[in-house]
Amino acid sequence: MAYEHANPELLARSITALEAVPASKLTGTQGDIGVDDPATGEQIATIPNHTVETALEAVGLADAAGKLWAKTTPRHRSDVLHAVYAKLIENRENLALVMSREMGKPINEAYGEVQYAADYVRWFAEEALRAGGSYREAPAGGATMITLRGPVGLSVLITPWNFPMAMATRKLAPALAAGCGAVVKPATLTPLTTYLTVKLFEEAGVPEGLIQVITTGSASAFSSAVLADERVRKVSFTGSTPVGAALMELAGKNIIKSSMELGGNAPLLIFDDADLERTIDGVILSKMRNGGQTCVSANRILVQEGIADAFLEGFTERMAGLVRGNPLNTEVELGPVVDHRAVERLQHLVDDAVAKGADLRTGGSAVSGPGHFFEATVLADVPADAEITTTEIFGPVSSITRFKTQEEAIAQANDTCFGLAGYVFTESLDRALNVAETLETGMVGINQGMLSNVAAPFGGVKQSGIGREGSSEGLEEYQEVRYFNVTRRETY
Ligand code: NAP
Repeated sequence: MAYEHANPELLARSITALEAVPASKLTGTQGDIGVDDPATGEQIATIPNHTVETALEAVGLADAAGKLWAKTTPRHRSDVLHAVYAKLIENRENLALVMSREMGKPINEAYGEVQYAADYVRWFAEEALRAGGSYREAPAGGATMITLRGPVGLSVLITPWNFPMAMATRKLAPALAAGCGAVVKPATLTPLTTYLTVKLFEEAGVPEGLIQVITTGSASAFSSAVLADERVRKVSFTGSTPVGAALMELAGKNIIKSSMELGGNAPLLIFDDADLERTIDGVILSKMRNGGQTCVSANRILVQEGIADAFLEGFTERMAGLVRGNPLNTEVELGPVVDHRAVERLQHLVDDAVAKGADLRTGGSAVSGPGHFFEATVLADVPADAEITTTEIFGPVSSITRFKTQEEAIAQANDTCFGLAGYVFTESLDRALNVAETLETGMVGINQGMLSNVAAPFGGVKQSGIGREGSSEGLEEYQEVRYFNVTRRETY
């Protein structure tokens, strides 16, 4: 069943939610930018196209507020972040509805993202109290060495469209916990959730001015200007690898501390001894969460020969049965992709794979009508030279190949410059751990398709990034270590 239209009651509530999104307090703009609903193509709001001068003004305001915030106690920052958590949960409906309208995330998944995003705030409210540091004797004696972890300073946070709330709180919460001010630049496709989230931070007690939101139609002019400003001490980016590389180059000129959460090309390995039902559940979760638009989505599904036919049959049936439609319906499991460019890119990847010999088991086409929809698609026996094997798919299209031996599968899995997530499905603990240790990825899911957890260090190796978010490492990304050496002599 396909739902073409939004549920009228949810639609009405979403209009009220959109009205709760605040206008920018920064006035220097060069016109407005429209924000569209990807499920209908309809424009739902406009945001300011801030000028570079406004971005630099925001840097000044957040830097000044940040200097005061850095002097507050860890307990105070923790209390404020706990209040923010409560405020976000209290407003979960508005946040989920706005997110669903601007991004196309099915409403149930949007509720899930609000909880996940708020969980980062609660986690870093707790971590704020454990800022670290040490006190120890110098190895040769005669001195005491003290290390302190303090706030790195003004942080520029650039976020993507696929998780408009969680990618913002995963950066904002540790920045504030550490004692930093922040300038946030959300993706132009999905800025409304960020505006609403930051308003709720302020209502919960975050000082006005500490977080500035900049929206711009000229992202490269923004980053060139702000990363050349000596007041900026940190840049944290989540997005594509080429943009991450460009930002690192700019940050390098001013020696700005950088964290980069970049693209992936996740391999997912299924061995003959895997539990079929558990595997299909895990692959659906990994591949289809957010319509396949996640950086940790299974991009290359590698199946051992003995289980391949049974897996393909069961997985294809599940993919073909997913309920597609307007995300403002609680039954919908697959919403639109983010824009028409995504539809065109997916169609190109599918056509290229089929032309080179892939077996199209279900789906394969853009859906006509309003909005930007693509069918849930299964491509089997995809040849190695198909573009889809080296490209981040970022949509509801699965690419499957068969393998004979573990050695062959590992070689294929690691044959990429990316290294964000990997997955292994097997009932053998030895095999699971051996494969997990051999995969060149920052994270591995074993018999499960969902890796993200606020308590885990999220991040990649190779060209998938530098730095970690969440866990205690996530706080350290916004801190600098300082060291004092105290000469000691006996006083008795
Ligand atoms: P993107 O095109 O790289 O954009 C991400 C953000 O960077 C947006 O806010 C974008 O602004 C901004 N941006 C683009 N060019 C910029 C520049 N020259 N200077 C400063 N900012 C710039 O990526 P996307 O399409 O939004 O997101 C999808 C990508 O993100 C995928 O590759 C995915 O794997 C990756 N991702 C990674 C993680 C992770 O944790 N590793 C998580 C989620 C997503 P505009 O919107 O204005 O262009």
